[in-house]
Amino acid sequence: MRVLIGGGSGFVGRELTRLLRDKGHEVTVISRQSGPGKITWSELESCGLPPCDGAVNLAGENLMNPLRWWNESYKKDLFSSRIDTTKALAQAIAASPSPPHSWVLVSGVGKSLPSVKTLKFSYAAWVEVYYMNTQIDKIYFFSSLFMFTACYKPSLTAEYTEDSEWTPFDLLSKLVKEWEASALLPENVVKTTKQVVIRPGAVLGRDGGAMKQMLLPFWLGLGGTLGSGRQPFPWIHVSDLAGIIAHALEPPTDTPSPSQQVFNGVAPALNTNYEFTKELGRVLRRPTILPVPGFVMNTLMGSERAVVLTQGQKVIPKRTLAAGFQYKYPDLTSALKEIAGS
Ligand code: NDP
Repeated sequence: MRVLIGGGSGFVGRELTRLLRDKGHEVTVISRQSGPGKITWSELESCGLPPCDGAVNLAGENLMNPLRWWNESYKKDLFSSRIDTTKALAQAIAASPSPPHSWVLVSGVGKSLPSVKTLKFSYAAWVEVYYMNTQIDKIYFFSSLFMFTACYKPSLTAEYTEDSEWTPFDLLSKLVKEWEASALLPENVVKTTKQVVIRPGAVLGRDGGAMKQMLLPFWLGLGGTLGSGRQPFPWIHVSDLAGIIAHALEPPTDTPSPSQQVFNGVAPALNTNYEFTKELGRVLRRPTILPVPGFVMNTLMGSERAVVLTQGQKVIPKRTLAAGFQYKYPDLTSALKEIAGS
């Protein structure tokens, strides 16, 4: 199978590329920079879709880019980097004389983790200020670990499956709505091309995302729960997310449905922030005794912003399990042991 991956140079894209190549598939990445095995977004626009059997979009400006202030222009880029690239791929698929059999968009259910660069920056800033005896940067450090691209509204009790109805309730849920809508193909193409949306939780893996950087503070015994710690923490091991995407890329067995098929890309274990923190401490054999209370976060960050750290969603991968997907890391212990062990 020939697979085209928008944003395939990133954390999830590298894992997906490895998996697909191991299975004998050919991968071409769409990037802002040219290079071997890559085409650029402008080449896609000018030359059209290269021959492919499956296409995926993983591109998007990092939500916690430390070099950007949280202002209107940054918010605009968060939207345009996701929506314009998704639209460009959907349009190229629609215009292709031989469209691929599968088109997969990866959006988000909840917490999204920033790049290694962001985390290095945040961690460096935090360590510096920590030794000056202030908690403020500790909170900003943790805020950078758990930024949301949420569609399901945070709740301690509600359980969300792929069938759950949701309406945008804040800026980032609005982003997910527009992003997923921009992937929709015209009627004449949906007869041949399967349209899939995968909504991942926080992606955990040793080669990127937050885990790599979290290991050090946890090793130093500086890990702790955020707020009450009772908030749900939807997560997935990067290897399982790549597996779900690869599964979605398989040719459809029946005539494709005209609507998007949604799969929650989360592990089946329903964990809280407290359980995640304690399990990571246990796997590393380190104490996790430095909680950051909710009221401190509300005061320092503003309650509207602190909500993204002190709340979460219980997300169930109902359709992912029903599709027969076998998780390599269905529980926190196995996932964290694989990451920390290496
Ligand atoms: P990365 O942050 O690693 O970025 C993916 C790629 O996006 C980059 O390699 C880059 O490719 C491209 N990109 C970055 N900025 C822009 C921009 N301004 N315009 C166009 N392209 C850009 O993402 P992940 O691999 O971690 O995540 C993949 C997708 O999954 C993202 O859309 C993310 O929002 C979503 N997601 C991720 C989660 C996580 O925990 N990692 C959780 C939930 C959702 P290049 O430089 O080659 O152009």
